Amino acid sequence: MKRLCAFLPLLTLALATPSFASHSWGGYHWARTSTPFTLQLLNNMSSAEWSGFLSLVSADWSKSSVLHTNIMSGTGGGNCRAKAGTVQICNRKYGFNGWLGLAQIWISGNHITQATVKVNDSYFYTTSYNNANAKRHVLCQEVGHTFGLNHQSFSGSDSCMDDVNGLFDQAYVSPNAHDYEQLVTIYNSHTDSSATVAQLLTGAASYEEGTDVPANFGRPVGTGRVPEVLFVRELPDGRKIFTHVVPAPVGNPDER
Ligand SMILES: [Zn+2]
Ligand SMILES: [Zn+2]
Repeated sequence: MKRLCAFLPLLTLALATPSFASHSWGGYHWARTSTPFTLQLLNNMSSAEWSGFLSLVSADWSKSSVLHTNIMSGTGGGNCRAKAGTVQICNRKYGFNGWLGLAQIWISGNHITQATVKVNDSYFYTTSYNNANAKRHVLCQEVGHTFGLNHQSFSGSDSCMDDVNGLFDQAYVSPNAHDYEQLVTIYNSHTDSSATVAQLLTGAASYEEGTDVPANFGRPVGTGRVPEVLFVRELPDGRKIFTHVVPAPVGNPDER
């Protein structure tokens, strides 16, 4: 028994390593010429409540040593059109279509070029989901995906990047230490010769529209989650759009 106990820390370490290693998704990251860098979160929220959650989420992620998030007025309009170099963030009643939140991330090569985050008020204003912890958890997770972070899903993770546990739990509304460590792993590895991240908001960038309709998310990536939580769509010009989903059962949960 003694021998077993001595072995346990090593075993724990070995078990922890695989999930830790896969905690970024695909190695995708914002190109930037120096680290730390600032990422603009564009606030298209229609309510003071959601703007409040965005402030908390931005402050949480900005504790990172490698990236800072800055909230600016949104320019995405009702459809949350993406703007190069930034993350547009929106809430709206998108319908009872199977998701509480989604992050859509445009990829060119290995680099993230723009992203949108949407939270679904159709669900969040039902009695089943009208919960401050759930709203903050989903927003925190989707914003985390736009940095290149994947899930950490194990009981006791106490991370908003957990897609299995803690939706309504106050312990799961913020990133945990491993999330910040993973950001260091992603963004301290190298810098790029040119940037995809917009350090400032310039007027000239064009806009692109994503989709909030699940049928248009593309093919499932095969994360092993049921229902699937990550989809990819290839664009004709070689770029890809990944869609991270926090799923919910289709239909109004209050009418079940
Ligand atoms: Zn790079
Ligand atoms: Zn997720």
